[in-house]
Amino acid sequence: MKKLLWIIPIGVVCAVAYYLLEYGNKEPVQVVDSSPHYTTTIYFHPLDNFTQQEAIQLRAVIEQRFRDIFNEDFEFEILPNKKFSIDLMNDNKTRYRADKIIYSLSKKAVKHKITIGLTHKDISIPYKGKSDWGILGLAIHKVNGCVASTFRLKHKERDYWKVVTHEFIHTYYRYPHCPKDSSHCIMKDAKGKADFGNKNDLCGYCKSRIG
Ligand SMILES: [Zn+2]
Ligand SMILES: [Zn+2]
Repeated sequence: MKKLLWIIPIGVVCAVAYYLLEYGNKEPVQVVDSSPHYTTTIYFHPLDNFTQQEAIQLRAVIEQRFRDIFNEDFEFEILPNKKFSIDLMNDNKTRYRADKIIYSLSKKAVKHKITIGLTHKDISIPYKGKSDWGILGLAIHKVNGCVASTFRLKHKERDYWKVVTHEFIHTYYRYPHCPKDSSHCIMKDAKGKADFGNKNDLCGYCKSRIG
C-alpha cells in the first residue's frame, strides 16, 4: 500500500511533465516585428530673430501637448538659428516665401526626421490667383518640412503651438484639413482667418484617425 502511495504522486508528476511537453509549445505563435523601431525626431529650426529661448519655451509647451494629442513619442531638438537670405523673399522683397524657406531647411530631411521652421516674419505663397498670399504656415510633406509664423497671430503666446501642431500634422501624418470642419479642431482649415481661440485639440473624428 505504501508503494502505491508513492506511485500515485510520481504518476501525477509524469502527467504534468507530459502535458507541458506536449502542449506547452502549442501556445499561439507570437509574431515579433523585426523591423527597427524609429522614434521620430522633430527639429525646431529658429529663423532669423526667433530666439533659442523662444524655441525652448515652445518645445516645453509642445512636448506636453503632444503627449495629450498623439499616441506616439517624439524626440525634439532645437537647431542653431538660421539667418534669412534675400533670395528667400518674394519678387517685391516684402515677405518671405514659405515654400522657399521649407526647401532651404529640409534638404537633409528624411522620414522620421521632421523639420519645422519657426519665424516671426510674414510669410507668403502664390495662391488663389495672387502671386503673394500671406499665410500662417505651410507644410510640404514630400520634404518632411514645414514652417510656422507668429506674424498673423493676435495671441502669439496662446496660439503659436497650435499653428506649429497644425503644420506638423500635415507634414508627418500627411493629413488634410478636418473633414468635419469642426470649429474646435486644430486641423480646421483656417480659410484666411487666424482664429485659434477655441482650438486646443483635435476633434473626435481627427483624433480617431491620427491621435
Ligand atoms: Zn477634426
Ligand atoms: Zn492647413
